[in-house]
Amino acid sequence: MKDLKAEARAVGERLGAADTRGLNATLYWSQEMLDAEADRVAALEAAGAPLPLAGMPIALKDNIVTTDAPTTCASRILAGYRSPYDATVVRRLREAGAVIAAKANLDEFAMGSSTEHSAFGRVQHPTHPDRVPGGSSGGSAALVAAGVVPAALGSETGGSVRQPASFCGVVGVKPTYGRVSRYGLVAFGSSLDCVSVIGRTVNDAARVLAAISGPDDQDATTVAVEPLTIDATPGSLRGLRIGLPTEYFPADLDAGVRAGVDRAADALRALGAELVPVTLPHTKYAVPTYYVLAPAEAASNLARYDGVRYGVRRIGEAGDLAALYRATRGEGFGPEVRRRILVGTYVLSAGYYDAYYNKAQQVRNMIAADFSRVFAPGGVDFMLTPTTPTTAFRAGERTGDPVSMYLADIFVSAVSLAGLPAMSVPVGLSEGLPVGAQLIAPAFGESRMMAVASAVEAALDAAGEVR
Ligand code: GLN
Repeated sequence: MKDLKAEARAVGERLGAADTRGLNATLYWSQEMLDAEADRVAALEAAGAPLPLAGMPIALKDNIVTTDAPTTCASRILAGYRSPYDATVVRRLREAGAVIAAKANLDEFAMGSSTEHSAFGRVQHPTHPDRVPGGSSGGSAALVAAGVVPAALGSETGGSVRQPASFCGVVGVKPTYGRVSRYGLVAFGSSLDCVSVIGRTVNDAARVLAAISGPDDQDATTVAVEPLTIDATPGSLRGLRIGLPTEYFPADLDAGVRAGVDRAADALRALGAELVPVTLPHTKYAVPTYYVLAPAEAASNLARYDGVRYGVRRIGEAGDLAALYRATRGEGFGPEVRRRILVGTYVLSAGYYDAYYNKAQQVRNMIAADFSRVFAPGGVDFMLTPTTPTTAFRAGERTGDPVSMYLADIFVSAVSLAGLPAMSVPVGLSEGLPVGAQLIAPAFGESRMMAVASAVEAALDAAGEVR
């Protein structure tokens, strides 16, 4: 049996050191919580329970609720809030023997691509403090990349785990919509939201995903499918067809990113896979479609923060109910969240609903149909693309220009709209900054996708060179 108490202290020391150097990746952790977790796992172990994640320390993005820590969503509006229940994913991690180590910083309500929209300050990139770790799960990615924890949970509405995983040089897996329960994940865009996993290695991410997957009575969108297998030794890839969608390799793609994806393609070819060009013609509509639908859903989901039921309450000058709403929401939400609520309310309002919201729903179907066509029988088994158009950008570079921030998600949004599984795998460095390659799979194809990813991982060394 491992000395779980000593490990809990070591995790606490690493968390403390990360805070001291100013990473700002956590919003809550305590040695008491770590010690209590160690005791709880030791008791499970003593009782002889099977513990697939025995003693594994895991950080949670702070939009996943736990009873033993505050949940803030990196927003002032949730100040003082503590959940009366654990998210299903937290319950499953605990049952598997994991140690819940910390609540990780994020963009407020998971809205952003750089973790600069946190009400509690930006997260630093783990190796380049003047750069961003990506977002919105930037705290989770930075903690894994900095070696504080081997794995973390994040959430994806439109790329928020794959994009920061790519910027930080770690593995990020977004499962199929419906694979993992969202009970206890604070809602952003309910037709898109997925609890997702960040790991130091493909195997760490796969083990965590296996532990949290499966149907849940508390989330009617979860489906009973074959459980994940985490055999990460695919051997030969002979006969596998991997598509390279031309729309994901534009002429102005960053040269270092292109080189990284090329190395992954070479590694896959060397293992016997066949790489073939494919097209996803509606790709260019993914970001605009996402930025109609996600804000529309956010505007209705965030209506619950009214100063009556959760967190802070400001009475307002007039002292009536409308003044309470205005004062609470005006002070409690940061600028990006207010922008999303305004856009979402606009696209849902009478007279604009058909032009924006309904139109975006139609385009979403066309984007999903692109994927169905390339994955149809006779098509390809997976696709390989860059995860992001550039490596990690400098802090402050895009905060004044929301559209340039939104375009950081250009290669990750379409998959989210289609509800498919995808992951980012590190494929080396460009000018010292990590590059990620994205694998995209058909619905519920996570097991094979992760096996292919671990083949890429095994074939490339840390610099991204083919071994
Ligand atoms: N960056 C995207 C946004 O700002 C995606 C966020 C997410 O996946 N949670 O909405």
